[in-house]
Amino acid sequence: MARPHVLVIPYPAQGHVIPIMELAQCLVKQGIKVTFVNTEVNHKLVTSNSLVKDGFGDLMQLVSVPDGLEPWEDRSDLCKLTTSILQTMSCKLEELIETINKEDSSNVTCIIADDCMGWAIKVAKKMGIRRAAFWPASVATLAYVMSFQKLIDDGIVNNNGVPINDQMIQLSESMPPIKSTNLPWTCFQELGTVKAFFKVVVEAVEAASLTEWFLCNSTTELEPAAFSLYPQLLPIGPLLASNRLADQAGHFWQEDATCLPWLDQQPSCSVIYVAFGSFTIFNQTQFEELALALELSNRPFLWVVRPGMTKETTASFPEGYVERVGSRGRIVSWAPQQKVLAHPSVACFVSHCGWNSTLEGVTNGLPFLCWPYFADQFDNETYIRDIWKTGLGFNKDEAGIITRGEIKGKVEQLLGDNSFKAKAMDIKEKVTSTIKEGGCSHKNLGNFIEWIHNKDTYAPYNQVEICE
Ligand code: UDP
Repeated sequence: MARPHVLVIPYPAQGHVIPIMELAQCLVKQGIKVTFVNTEVNHKLVTSNSLVKDGFGDLMQLVSVPDGLEPWEDRSDLCKLTTSILQTMSCKLEELIETINKEDSSNVTCIIADDCMGWAIKVAKKMGIRRAAFWPASVATLAYVMSFQKLIDDGIVNNNGVPINDQMIQLSESMPPIKSTNLPWTCFQELGTVKAFFKVVVEAVEAASLTEWFLCNSTTELEPAAFSLYPQLLPIGPLLASNRLADQAGHFWQEDATCLPWLDQQPSCSVIYVAFGSFTIFNQTQFEELALALELSNRPFLWVVRPGMTKETTASFPEGYVERVGSRGRIVSWAPQQKVLAHPSVACFVSHCGWNSTLEGVTNGLPFLCWPYFADQFDNETYIRDIWKTGLGFNKDEAGIITRGEIKGKVEQLLGDNSFKAKAMDIKEKVTSTIKEGGCSHKNLGNFIEWIHNKDTYAPYNQVEICE
């Protein structure tokens, strides 16, 4: 029988590439051939990262298709990027699959597409290829996406997805309320970006109806209410490199692993880890307040200051700062985050609450200080703060700044109250048990892998036991 050959395609953002790469690696581990499709720009970044070369055997090939923008164009302009993807990538993907099927020893037998790339599911259907959708963010976020028509019918958003009023909404009694302006597609400043992302949402929901599997990087332990709204959504998470006992892959920046020996030298449960993912941008005043707060905290800290994290080209620290904090503070441009969070010296995580960072903190039993920037991060903060009760948020002053005093105070409050750590450890136990033998996410992933191997199996919902 021909070996299964799965084509995997993420939305071109760091927080989307990392988790679907984990899924791809799980498949490779099970003897499945994978072609991983990045956009050309991201392909260059991922393949220039040395970890990638080490981690993959012959079963994984990394390829690229153009995103339709010129090389010099700004990909942080999400309206432009998203519009270009929707207009141009579908033909390119079809061409790629035709080439693979002509030249490769095995035809593509299945496509796993990020549901934010719903058009790729349509390409699979058109070409008669089996298909699965993958959702890298929280299922609560996905529930809003899946409910877009209801939100239009209820007069919450118009036909372009734009909120009609600024109001609180709640999808079900057991889900937390959310502002109509904080929906996954309404949270952008620019109206054009809201409308562009709403097109992605509409495509995502159409694609969901064309897939045989809808796999989610979450667990029912974390979000039971959201999963119960849409029973076709299957938890297979959290997908982490540590599940494979391997290094992280799919990163756009080279990690600075020198912070690991530095962590070894710090007392147990003492370090404040500060990282805001791949997208967050700070203004200089806020950046300086955070720097000074970490200095004032009198605790060891590890802070990721990504290139481009401030509006200025290079972040400027307050005068004499680096000398003053000395070896008590470690600043890196990109950390091996999963390893950092698993380190016994880390006491808490000051995070933007991206879903991957949230899962990584949760699976390591860490309390959070939540500093959301955009998109689903506000909703993730609500889960951390109000539902799981494993963290605190920050208040801004009249000028919209989170002051050094506020930050220092919240660090002390979080680390001075053992209940946060106790709850975090409790949730860690529940969440990690789901990915172990016998756990729900483990079973669902196992069933999915079985389905990929066996081309005579159809329609998972009535063929295999689904664990919800
Ligand atoms: N990450 C990392 N090193 C860093 C900062 C982030 O490896 O210094 C990883 C982090 O572990 C996570 C991803 O980058 O897997 C960020 O995804 P997330 O959903 O948290 O945020 P986004 O970048 O999408 O805003």
